[in-house]
Amino acid sequence: MKSSRKDFIKTASLLGVGTMLSLNKLQANTQDKDFTLPPLGYSYNALEPFIDALTMEIHYTKHHQAYLNKMNELKGKDNTWWSYEMSLEQMLGQLNNVNAEVRTAVRNNLGGHWNHSFFWKLLKKDTKPNAITLTIFEKNFGSLDGFKAEFKKTALGVFGSGWAWVIKSGDTLKICSTANQDNPLMDVTSVQGKPILGLDVWEHAYYLKYHNKRTDYIDAFFNVLNWEQVAQHLQ
Ligand code: MN
Repeated sequence: MKSSRKDFIKTASLLGVGTMLSLNKLQANTQDKDFTLPPLGYSYNALEPFIDALTMEIHYTKHHQAYLNKMNELKGKDNTWWSYEMSLEQMLGQLNNVNAEVRTAVRNNLGGHWNHSFFWKLLKKDTKPNAITLTIFEKNFGSLDGFKAEFKKTALGVFGSGWAWVIKSGDTLKICSTANQDNPLMDVTSVQGKPILGLDVWEHAYYLKYHNKRTDYIDAFFNVLNWEQVAQHLQ
């Protein structure tokens, strides 16, 4: 009697709001589902002529899907790195704790999944920065053109495959890049911060339309950068 009452009190005291949320998450995730593509939310030709429909289709259904296939394969072989209690962002922040044998594969494929999921939402035609976003970008980069120039320089400077980012670190926005499918959420990268926006500069993201002209692809990106999404990330 005494011990069950004690257990009850212990359990009740654990059921704070945070615990309730993580229990819900745990329950929601207990079915051992495969990773699947998140909805794109628009048609493959929605970003024409800046990003062509065929590139979008291949990028989403082949490249992004390939990272998911690898993750499902990995989870089948060794799921010690996987936790139902953690978000993908939390997992990316703890790659150093992942079994060394699968760490690189988790880094590349979980990174690839997160990066592409983040990227799709950042693409939309005909949006503009709202007043708050504009003020923040002007404060950090002098002007919107100043931001574009610095971001372009960084994106052009990525040697080989990788991503260019705007990250928030404290109250400051910074422009940086990562190699391969790394991102600033990872504990294994040299730059860390909250991603505000990012650009995939792997050749698969632009080669069909822009060939070797990454510079033209970056200019096109500024025409489809979804400032509504950027504003949400700044909150
Ligand atoms: Mn890509």
